[in-house]
Amino acid sequence: MSYSCRNLIEDREQFPAPFLLDIYRSLKDDPATDYTALRSAIGTPAGFIPSQTTYLDETEWWLSRLKELGRPNEGIAAMVRAVYPWLAHGYHAQAERISDRFTVFDGWIKDTHGEIDPRLNRVPVSCTEIEALARCPFAYFLRYVLEVEPPDDYGRDPTVWLDAMAFGILLHEIFHSFMAEITAREEKPNFTRHWERLRAIAEECITRWRHRMPPPNLAAFTTQRSHVFAACYTFLKDEEIHCQQGTPRYFEIPFGLPGLESAPPIGSPDPVSIDIGEGKDFMLRGRIDRVDHKGRDEYEVWDYKSGSSRNILEEKQLNRGRQIQHALYARAVEILLARVQKQGRVTRSGYFFPGLKGEGQRIAKPQDTLALEKVLGTLFGLLRDGIFPYAPDPDFCGFCDYRCVCKGPEKANAQTQMKLENRGADGNPFEPMRRLMDCDD
Ligand code: SF4
Repeated sequence: MSYSCRNLIEDREQFPAPFLLDIYRSLKDDPATDYTALRSAIGTPAGFIPSQTTYLDETEWWLSRLKELGRPNEGIAAMVRAVYPWLAHGYHAQAERISDRFTVFDGWIKDTHGEIDPRLNRVPVSCTEIEALARCPFAYFLRYVLEVEPPDDYGRDPTVWLDAMAFGILLHEIFHSFMAEITAREEKPNFTRHWERLRAIAEECITRWRHRMPPPNLAAFTTQRSHVFAACYTFLKDEEIHCQQGTPRYFEIPFGLPGLESAPPIGSPDPVSIDIGEGKDFMLRGRIDRVDHKGRDEYEVWDYKSGSSRNILEEKQLNRGRQIQHALYARAVEILLARVQKQGRVTRSGYFFPGLKGEGQRIAKPQDTLALEKVLGTLFGLLRDGIFPYAPDPDFCGFCDYRCVCKGPEKANAQTQMKLENRGADGNPFEPMRRLMDCDD
């Protein structure tokens, strides 16, 4: 029989329960025996660390040995590592991670033999994948190489009906239906003429989505419904002006996505080959929201964004590959047009933000072939050499599903920065990452 004589949380002594005193009195056959007699009869308390001869298992044996050896020191640590090879391996990995060298424990996969370089393996990639690689090679490695997917989040925010992705798809459906309908009648967007029709299309889509994904409550539904109408309003107002300089021509054009119906006439189940200089190319797949015809052989490419424009920096051309879609889709459209024997040159490519947070902003970027080839060559160099470090900057992290793997942006970013700064002679495996950071567009 025993009792806990110390409260470890409050760091104070504890008295035995009266029940123990009763037992002791029975044993002594003396109803007058008090706590003082009980305490002195109990003797010295036993601690967590066993004596040299009373250990019950391996853990207790180690505790008794370590107590005997005194304060922990490198000798004891070395002894533990010698007995437990897995601990030794973890210790080595940790030491390598906190060193200023880039090692296999920081995301360096040696001997990839080009298996994950799209220039060599010919597997079509999407702009989303390339931009993910540019944001954080480590997160890219988890998501697209190891295919580690974050678990579904079943916790539901009672104030939200559709998450950002579903809301974006809903808006795309509405804009596509509306533009396809009026373009088939050879009309251009006009607020006075088309507002009621756009509202009706939006209402039909909302009803369909409400059936497919019932909202948690009426307030969440009405709030997002009003956001949809606000986006439609901004869309139509802006499109009326925008389309005075051109004609919307193609909508929701998939290429290299065999599971999706290809939108005639330029949609295609086959990916497009993007030339990136020096005799190299890779296969691109994706879906283009909108192509406008601007003149004889001139086109514009637009991507609808339902959120804010915060992550698309107007002054940056490719933002080290984190904003590359406009440039790649411009190339893709020219190739898709050529496939159906149409002459065409994309003169402008960009993003349109009709949602509440985007406030109808349009951001278009100039085409810069050399910058595109340089960034893509550098990014694919990471894949060729198997270099997957953490993102070097918290701005790159945003909402990341893998922050529990890298221990969080703060530590991860600092670690990569430290290794980037070490330009010593370590075989320079980090060089492709340095080149990416030097792409200053
Ligand atoms: S949180 Fe970690 S894994 Fe995610 S992007 Fe940042 S560094 Fe990469």
